[in-house]
Amino acid sequence: MDTKTFDFLNESTYRELLKLTKAKYTIKGFEVLDCNVIPTSFAIIRHDVDMSPERALALAKIEAEEGIRATYTILLTGEFYSPFEKQVRNQISQIAELGHDIGLHFDAAWHGIETEIQLEDKIQWETEILTKLLSSDQNHLVRMFSFHNTTPFTMGCRERSYGGLRNAYAGVLQDQVQYTSDSNGYWIHRSWKTLLDENHERIQVLTHPEWWSTYDAYPGEKVTRTLMQRHLVTWANYCDLLQIGNRNNKLGLRNGQDVLRSLWGEKGENILLLWLNGNRNLAALQVWLLLAEKNQEIVLEISDWQNLFEEMIFGKRQFCFTNQSFEALLSFAEKFMNE
Ligand SMILES: [Zn+2]
Repeated sequence: MDTKTFDFLNESTYRELLKLTKAKYTIKGFEVLDCNVIPTSFAIIRHDVDMSPERALALAKIEAEEGIRATYTILLTGEFYSPFEKQVRNQISQIAELGHDIGLHFDAAWHGIETEIQLEDKIQWETEILTKLLSSDQNHLVRMFSFHNTTPFTMGCRERSYGGLRNAYAGVLQDQVQYTSDSNGYWIHRSWKTLLDENHERIQVLTHPEWWSTYDAYPGEKVTRTLMQRHLVTWANYCDLLQIGNRNNKLGLRNGQDVLRSLWGEKGENILLLWLNGNRNLAALQVWLLLAEKNQEIVLEISDWQNLFEEMIFGKRQFCFTNQSFEALLSFAEKFMNE
């Protein structure tokens, strides 16, 4: 296979790379650190879950299908997800149930750690929290950790374990195991495929699940979509909560949410969020474009609306959709789409 095929990080290249790896190596976990002499001919597959537990679970399923055990490290102190969210905790449990190892992803800078003694203490503290959170059974105890955002200090912490957890950056692994990582959405040392082609005795591949999407895109696009997806889920939970409690979800629109949802599902919900977020003209224009997608000719003939959009785009006067005009557009859209 052409190496160019592996330039994009997505689910299908992920599966291919796994297959190539298991054809060449025995896949092991960080228990290799328990042997005095590190064994030969193994590959460790590690995922630091920085942003997306949802993507982590998707990769965990692919690995399970390929009969591979990987290690997933969970960040307690990140900004992109919290393992305390019910859905996230559930995703992590599912990863463990698929037979993978769960570790701690540890941010020394968050604690302001400067010495190895402080490190012992804080790792124990976080391990206790993560263990309680996952109510781990004996098979899924947290036994290893990796540093988040490594620094010269953390790379200098070379003991095999700290705070009772095996260290993914132990000196012996740094010295004897060849390593690569997709840290910012691209390979920083060399690609996984190149690492395989180099025929080393032992390798450790670190991937971050957020980059291995179902589609090809630039890393910045993947981060944004991950954030927007989370945003949408949080919004949906908020709306559900109001509905369950029989509370009024006051949006300034009579039935705009229902119309947008019923006409365009998630896309419609995103338009509503654009509207509520203050991007009113853009939200209205999105509706208009969706109508044009259904039938451009008819849409262009409806002169009232067409004039309004022309005025919005080209007009000299500042025009802004109001709640009333947006609702009128939505009732028109409802009729137009159901015709
Ligand atoms: Zn990290």
